[in-house]
Amino acid sequence: MKYLLPLFIFATFSFGDYTPTISTKVTNNGHTVLVTMDNRNIEKLKLSFNGLHLFFLEHPFKKNLSYLLLPIEYYTPFKSYTVFYSYYYKGKKHLKHFNLKVKEGKYRSERLSVNPSKIKLSKEDKLRAEKEYKEAMKVYNSISDEVLWEKDFIHPMDSKITSPFGTKRVFNKLVKRYHTGIDFRAKSGTPIISSNDGVVRIAKDRFYAGGSVVVDHGQGIYTCYYHMSKIDVKVGDKVAQGDLLGLSGATGRVTGPHLHFSVYVNGKIVSPKQFLKIVNSLND
Ligand SMILES: [Zn+2]
Repeated sequence: MKYLLPLFIFATFSFGDYTPTISTKVTNNGHTVLVTMDNRNIEKLKLSFNGLHLFFLEHPFKKNLSYLLLPIEYYTPFKSYTVFYSYYYKGKKHLKHFNLKVKEGKYRSERLSVNPSKIKLSKEDKLRAEKEYKEAMKVYNSISDEVLWEKDFIHPMDSKITSPFGTKRVFNKLVKRYHTGIDFRAKSGTPIISSNDGVVRIAKDRFYAGGSVVVDHGQGIYTCYYHMSKIDVKVGDKVAQGDLLGLSGATGRVTGPHLHFSVYVNGKIVSPKQFLKIVNSLND
């Protein structure tokens, strides 16, 4: 071992042989995988996974490191994947790969009854929902280089989680979806705070999500706060961690008042609980 380490370092910097560190080799669907890489002497670090092509970004806290938060979309088929990554060393492109297995997370199932008007939509509502979806996806797919936060991400309120991420849901025995965030118990009018520093990108009433606020934290990370009865911010506002975004409510497609909190990473929705653990580990 005594002789191997200097040899390894020599190999890395002499031949451009760079290898990433991966947070796990087996991931659940809906989770985020953290990939970090020494970026000294290399550039244009990229990664491809299951049709997703992403650039590594500058690590917010550690020098000479690049990182990438790889979101494993909920409906990703369960199997082994070859993840390709590439970079340029002394002007020459290196293409390499590692293996990543996606397995089914242990998510529960539930049946819900909601107002039929939120299931079988009128033409007008359908158009509205589609327009809002497109608007939101345009926001979530904007990935800036700049990191806007410094502290660990926190929960948007101090309350019991009544429904976790990933639960398979059947609405009125008809529509099958999954729960895309976590629900916090909150009677109408409970203050909701921003999970971290960022800029407000969405602040409006929407068909499914009701009163909605979306905060951009930079580097492809967005936190979302839904079903609000009152919104206290507007698009473009800079918010700090802990700032009041508005009050909880029962607007949109809901069975009662609560706060639905969700997270988008690089254009995909992920488990907020697991994401908070992964993103906060950057600052360890
Ligand atoms: Zn929810």
